[in-house]
Amino acid sequence: MIRLPSFLRQSATFLRGLLIAYGVGSVSLIFLALATIDLVERHREVIQEGEQAAQVVQASLQAPMSDDARQGLLEAYGQTVRADRLDGMNVLLVVDAKGRIAYASRPAWRRLRITDPLVSRVETDDADFRQVVACFSRSQAECLEFRSSDFVLRTGSFTVVRPVLQPPRDLGLPRQPFLVIANFDTGVVMADFAQDLVALVVLALLLGGLLTGTLWYVLTARLLPRLNQAAQTDGLTQLANRTSFMETAMEILAEAEERGGDLVFAILDIDHFKRINDTYGHDCGDVALVSVAAVLATVLRPDDLVCRFGGEEFALLLSTSKEGGRKVLERLRLQLEMNRVGYNGRHLPITASIGAAATADCGYNLDYLYTAADKALYAAKHAGRNRVDWTDAEALSRLQLSR
Ligand code: GH3
Ligand code: MG
Ligand code: MG
Repeated sequence: MIRLPSFLRQSATFLRGLLIAYGVGSVSLIFLALATIDLVERHREVIQEGEQAAQVVQASLQAPMSDDARQGLLEAYGQTVRADRLDGMNVLLVVDAKGRIAYASRPAWRRLRITDPLVSRVETDDADFRQVVACFSRSQAECLEFRSSDFVLRTGSFTVVRPVLQPPRDLGLPRQPFLVIANFDTGVVMADFAQDLVALVVLALLLGGLLTGTLWYVLTARLLPRLNQAAQTDGLTQLANRTSFMETAMEILAEAEERGGDLVFAILDIDHFKRINDTYGHDCGDVALVSVAAVLATVLRPDDLVCRFGGEEFALLLSTSKEGGRKVLERLRLQLEMNRVGYNGRHLPITASIGAAATADCGYNLDYLYTAADKALYAAKHAGRNRVDWTDAEALSRLQLSR
């Protein structure tokens, strides 16, 4: 688990909300997509059943057999399909050029006209069926060419209408076109679809979970650590920035206070830095800042906390006693004095002034330590720069008096 600074924690909470919304959204979308595909497939299967019925009729028309035998075949076919309860076929009709029902899976309908009120009143009241009936009530010859669409998505009943080819002449049968009308009850489609729902929900949850999990991994294992790093780092020097320094320093101070540990807080300010900028340009100033940061990184120990406080100021929290701090800061000052900033073939000298305050003198309050160190820094600048000054017990009592 990564530790996030407070301002990033809010972003993390926001991201978590976003991820939850993404999870719910993706599961819903995947479910919708799967449900639509399933529904479409179920309807397609039924249309295929209709086409199969038309082929059965066509085959029977091509085979030489009596009308009654053909009627018997259709009834038997209608019964088998209904017994399977797979496609929910209501009725299978074969209509001739005059709109008469030549054969029907329901024997009672045979020889009725397709326009007969009895036929229209039954549960076959969908658009395609109505269209066929309307066409034959106008008694138009082209009704036999009617072909319903290859795909329909309806909640009520629906009808597959296919013209069947005339039987070949060489069979010696009269060339007569027919229209096959297979009417289905979508209730069966819906019942099958309802059975699939649980599986669809599970699949949508799995896929949506996988997508959300991947996104969660990318965010927490890849993006957040980088954001976290970037949010805590000063872009120029790659040292910690002020916000992250303050948060960590407060934790270290609180912990040291509990066990009575010694710490030293210091502010380091580059001397006459403005001159570097003014003389050699802002870029040179930037190089100098990076160079100072490099010196800080080499002189200080991993336990010490350092940051670019802002501008050409750096803050330090050293895990050491006042005496130890004196040595470290003096060494640091000296190291900076010896260090040269390489810029455009030049080797520029720089120095820094340091104001310091020890917890042994000033306590563990960070604001107070800062005020004390800043006071010492001011004194160091006044005393001629390139030196380390401290706010000691005496200076501290003056500081407290002036508050
Ligand atoms: P003193 O010895 O009293 O500290 O003098 P100084 O010139 O160092 O201090 P002053 O506060 O007058 O100037 C600080 C300069 O630091 C002014 C500002 O333009 C420059 N500065 C602040 N941040 C940056 C930075 O990121 N890059 C560069 N190149 N300059 C910066
Ligand atoms: Mg300054
Ligand atoms: Mg300065």
